[in-house]
Amino acid sequence: MNKTARKPVTRAAKSKAAPKVSFVSLGCPKALVDSERIISKLRAEGYEISGDHAGADVVVVNTCGFLDSAKKESLDAIGEAMAENGKVIVTGCFGVESDRIMQAYPGVLAVTGPHQYEQLVGEVHKAVPPLHDPHLDLVPPQGIKLTPRHYAYLKISEGCNNRCSFCIIPSLRGDLASRPAGSVMAEAERLVKAGVKELLVISQDTSAYGLDIKYAESAWKGQPLKAKFVDLSRALGELGVWVRLHYVYPYPHVDDVIPLMAEGKVLPYLDIPFQHASPTVLKAMRRPAHQEKTLERILGWRKVCPDLAIRSTFIVGFPGETETDFKFMLDWLQEAKLTRVGCFRYENVEGAKSRDLPGHVPDEVKEDRWHRFMQTQQKISASLLEAKIGREIEVMIDSVDDERAIGRSFADAPEIDGTVILDDETEVSPGDIVRVQVTDATEYDLYAERVLPQT
Ligand code: SF4
Repeated sequence: MNKTARKPVTRAAKSKAAPKVSFVSLGCPKALVDSERIISKLRAEGYEISGDHAGADVVVVNTCGFLDSAKKESLDAIGEAMAENGKVIVTGCFGVESDRIMQAYPGVLAVTGPHQYEQLVGEVHKAVPPLHDPHLDLVPPQGIKLTPRHYAYLKISEGCNNRCSFCIIPSLRGDLASRPAGSVMAEAERLVKAGVKELLVISQDTSAYGLDIKYAESAWKGQPLKAKFVDLSRALGELGVWVRLHYVYPYPHVDDVIPLMAEGKVLPYLDIPFQHASPTVLKAMRRPAHQEKTLERILGWRKVCPDLAIRSTFIVGFPGETETDFKFMLDWLQEAKLTRVGCFRYENVEGAKSRDLPGHVPDEVKEDRWHRFMQTQQKISASLLEAKIGREIEVMIDSVDDERAIGRSFADAPEIDGTVILDDETEVSPGDIVRVQVTDATEYDLYAERVLPQT
């Protein structure tokens, strides 16, 4: 027993001892939003957040369990935290496989699953109790954001009612659970008041928003607002900031949001994860809206809003995909001329129904198709970007150093799309929206010069 006489704990001494949590956030923007919520809660309770495992009292690893490669990355991050600190709590999507985690790292203190914020915070309390000090407990009303100050993700629902055969998200995150429209708007307004200039609307299926709560109305600014994709988009468009819609499926009711884009209320940008174009593969994938005539729909949207930028992701080598299916997808791409496209090689995720499908595609065929896909899309992307040379566009600045500024146009979401590079431009700040003229283009990025207002 320590026989040293105890000194009274002064306020200053107590303040110094604020418990430190080192936080690792892996995975998609939805997981990032979960991390922001957890961190906001911990900060509100007086915890300090540090990025340094060694000096922290406990480490929280928010994991991703979507693909086997993501699970491996999560296990590596847990291993690193165990080696550098030893007091580790795991949460997030991969948390549903707690046995696997505990087998790999028996010393892990606790494992919680996705959206178990309260349990996670409870585990942090057990590992290192909070200090209650009103001077430490202050937290900005908009919460803590992990994205730069000028843009923020706005999560409008959790879970998903679809059952795509390659996806285990519904088993990890459950069925669709939409937030009331009034609560989403209140969060959006808080973010805008805190300086956010761009809201990135996310969920697993944004176009299905409100279906589970029968599009219930809730109060916003004294008026009823329906929990409906189009109504919410319109209300967000009134906040005077960029609004970008992610994870939308090509359902007929999405047509109603295109006029808002043409009017400049919402960015003319849609992130639609098509995943394939061949009807046979889409059916085997059990994709939402797989019977819709998507090419016709896209052409119809472009008639209303010619500038519409569409970003998407595709999977090559899905079980049963034939050379004919693959070529169908390449032809479709040539016609659809999507602005931004990502492509994944099919991964046989544990627990996914697609594992049991016949006709698994050999790895070398997947690889070959992936390269052919990328070459096709690179040519499309390069010609679309080249056509922008000479045009004047607005750009949101993301970063500035002493040589140049880097920003994005309406067609570029942060992290996943291209950029607009302004060489020799240093007189701007992150979050500024400036008018530029496009001077050059590569396969993915644009170069531009600022157009100064006439005096
Ligand atoms: S829409 Fe399909 S891929 Fe997306 S989360 Fe739902 S089940 Fe998964």
